[in-house]
Amino acid sequence: MKSVPFSVSLIFMSGFYLFCNAEAPIADASKTSAPAGTLPPNELGKIPILTYHKIADENTEYTRSRESYANDLVLLKKHGFYPVSLSELRTGKITTPKGKIPVLITYDDSSETHFKYEADGSLSPGCAVEIMERFQKKNSDFPLRGVFFVLPKAAYPNNFFGQTELIGKKMKYLTDRGFEIGSHTLWHANLRKYRHKIEEQLALGTYEIQKYVKNYPVYAFALPYGIFPPKEDEPRLRSGTYKGRHYKHEMIFDYSNGLSHSVYDAKFDTYHIRRLHGNEKTLAKLFRQATTQKHIFFVSDGDPNTVTVKKSDAERVRLKPGQKLATY
Ligand SMILES: [Zn+2]
Repeated sequence: MKSVPFSVSLIFMSGFYLFCNAEAPIADASKTSAPAGTLPPNELGKIPILTYHKIADENTEYTRSRESYANDLVLLKKHGFYPVSLSELRTGKITTPKGKIPVLITYDDSSETHFKYEADGSLSPGCAVEIMERFQKKNSDFPLRGVFFVLPKAAYPNNFFGQTELIGKKMKYLTDRGFEIGSHTLWHANLRKYRHKIEEQLALGTYEIQKYVKNYPVYAFALPYGIFPPKEDEPRLRSGTYKGRHYKHEMIFDYSNGLSHSVYDAKFDTYHIRRLHGNEKTLAKLFRQATTQKHIFFVSDGDPNTVTVKKSDAERVRLKPGQKLATY
């Protein structure tokens, strides 16, 4: 049976596709950032995991304008957020500096607007990677981190960042710089509808990523549309085999628009990790919370081997191997 093209199955892809070719202005966040270490550690607080889709001309539910996206980075830094990696959340060895709030930035659907090259081999001005790099050059204390949940076999422009002859080069570029890659199925299959294709979608999704980076550990998976299959099928999301090809997902991400529990919290469920929508409404709320409700967030103690929480939260803590608990 022929695969359903991704662009046909998504309402939000129905608009014009806009090339990422306009330079987004970036303000200098170093002049506006909050002083480091001003918040007490609270490592059982919530962690924001942002989900961006297209980075293009305007703000819609599934598109962030280049200008707004660039400004999000400025505001994240200003409010004391600090990019964390997937692998840090997996191991619990969080290296976020003392007083900062870890934020995981994720990008779904491997749109060409995330990563595009010009004919001369330079990054296209205004694609997400270019905007991030430009921001990082001016803000050395805001590391380049992000997770791309990719669709290797979707229709253009979501087919593994669009330029098929450059997939290998892009994957090397991303993984060399510390960006991370996760699976988002092969072509954005709704796994409730395509229950019979779960193993095929997931095994081949991993296989296609590892074609470009040998043995790349694909342990993270984001559900298309955030839609889970029926409960009895959920174990099939975690590991399986299709025609001799295997997959094993230790972290499964939803699209529920909630803040994630701390990875040390007994309530944290690695197979249902909450993500926020990277759109105007949710980001505005996040920045409001960062202004008026800072106590709800995970604030790092700066020591990856110690988990520091309020005494009243101690019972809920689940330490990772080699870690010790500190309370106050
Ligand atoms: Zn998606």
